[in-house]
Amino acid sequence: MNILVTVKTYPTPSRRYKEIVCTAGVLEDGRWIRLYPIDYRYNNYSQWYKKYQWIEVEVKKHNRDPRSESYRPIGNIRLGKVIGTKDNWAERKRYILAKGIRTMCYLQQQSQKDISLGVVKPSQVIDFYWKPTKNRDWTPKQRDVLNQLSLLEKNRPLEKIPYKFSYYFKCEENSCKGHKMMIEDWEVMALYRKMRDEFGEERALEKVKEKFLNQICSPQKDTHFFVGTVLQWGKWIIIGTFWPQKVK
Ligand SMILES: [Zn+2]
Repeated sequence: MNILVTVKTYPTPSRRYKEIVCTAGVLEDGRWIRLYPIDYRYNNYSQWYKKYQWIEVEVKKHNRDPRSESYRPIGNIRLGKVIGTKDNWAERKRYILAKGIRTMCYLQQQSQKDISLGVVKPSQVIDFYWKPTKNRDWTPKQRDVLNQLSLLEKNRPLEKIPYKFSYYFKCEENSCKGHKMMIEDWEVMALYRKMRDEFGEERALEKVKEKFLNQICSPQKDTHFFVGTVLQWGKWIIIGTFWPQKVK
């Protein structure tokens, strides 16, 4: 399959898959697909492929995951062209919006077996906020997994981000009462980490908000959210943002 990668979530340690990352994207016809586990023969995952890069990979339907979009990559992944933002994201839009958008209210009423990935367009973004996670560090079980992993591979140990970031928004449904949804985009965590190293935790949190609320959801942007379900609970979360300039 040829997949235009649009989503990478921050990894969580997993006994079965080492580190779970949700990688998602669209096929040439605009259908959504989710790929995992990722093969960690590729060191330094963060540099492995870019968002909005085409990748070519052989896939198999995921046998432990009943969601129709979930596939398992087999063998090598070939990296293709990266699609830029020329003409106000025209080429990205062509693939990403090919199947149209849904409302968040609609998606939440569906079974995740039928649909578990999509694009929504907030009609109003009310807030972006964070809460500290229950534990500041990995649980002993997660730490076990990571310790074993660092013996086998040269990856830098995965850092736990001690905050959960969320958006509060209304979707396009007239009767929408608002959605408070976590965002697990890799970019949020990467920005937090970078800013924290430079300015400390308090200011880093404000900087993340500045980018993800004031910039990405500014009135000049035609903001969309990529959303997907968490398998265990069937709950929807935000897994990425898409924010070309608004066109009159
Ligand atoms: Zn809604």
